[in-house]
Amino acid sequence: MIVTLTRDADLDLVRKSLAGLGLWVESVARSNAGDVHIQVGQGSADVAIESVAAVSGVSAVSVPESGHPRVDAHGPVFRVGELSADASEPVIIAGPCAVESEERIRHIAFELREQGVRFLRGGAFKPRTSPYAFQGHGAQALGWLRSAADSTGMKVVTEVMSEADVPVVAEHADVLQVGSRSMQSFALLRAIGRAGKPVLLKRSMSATIEEWLLAGEYLLAHGASSLAFCERGIRHFDASTRNLLDLGAVALLGHVKRLPVIVDPSHGTGRRDLVLPLARAALAAGAAGVMIETHDDPANAQSDGPQALLPGEIAALTRNGGVA
Ligand code: PEP
Ligand code: MN
Repeated sequence: MIVTLTRDADLDLVRKSLAGLGLWVESVARSNAGDVHIQVGQGSADVAIESVAAVSGVSAVSVPESGHPRVDAHGPVFRVGELSADASEPVIIAGPCAVESEERIRHIAFELREQGVRFLRGGAFKPRTSPYAFQGHGAQALGWLRSAADSTGMKVVTEVMSEADVPVVAEHADVLQVGSRSMQSFALLRAIGRAGKPVLLKRSMSATIEEWLLAGEYLLAHGASSLAFCERGIRHFDASTRNLLDLGAVALLGHVKRLPVIVDPSHGTGRRDLVLPLARAALAAGAAGVMIETHDDPANAQSDGPQALLPGEIAALTRNGGVA
């Protein structure tokens, strides 16, 4: 934001008034014509232009054009068919890291549905760091997932890793998930957008918030019907947790920008003992929901057992009129 002062303005007084609104001066420049322009710094609060223009000593306010107008206009609700999620009515997306077998996903789905959960997750195509790790059961797992969800009246959320898989995933899923490692695969984002379905966009472990918003813009610009941003933790220096769950980003998107944010405390911490406290913290910070990995036998899970809860443990969030 650039704030231009009136000729008779007192710079120090304007600076103090702006600070009172939560706006910090990054630099001050004087044009050849003698006008004084203040560049407002990045860590400033989101303040309505009218409030800044009303400050005594301010003659004009200009805001650079947003690179993500469709995201800015999206609104706080994530719509999936007849269901929706927002910060006032948050949802739980739950299920295993990977869809391991037809029986297992069915069993987990029934247990979750008993807890009131309406969104079933599970990876059919798994993005694994090692090419020798379990890669998921692919297209056949999509069928198992769909049938488990249909039997329980749940929606399916699953990742699509490659452009070639978009049609088959779109045929089986209600929500297409963009994995953290794919957040800036722009051709994939375009193809997923073209499917015209709701998308859950995971933040890359090294993406700035602006890059994340721009990735969302790709999806909406190419036809995604609704969008939720998923905070799943960013890279950090401390091995005590798998990632650093960025709750500041959650509050910024959910609470300030009023966008739907789903928080994934499972990948965000990698530890089952931290999942529920951080799920609660995420909801307090303005999340529209949480995504939690659940497995009926975490000790023998094919991936991400250490961060998995038992389906019944979700009850700690859904009890007492909580989220579902
Ligand atoms: C997942 O949710 O299945 C997953 C692989 O997460 P991420 O892309 O955040 O690592
Ligand atoms: Mn996982």
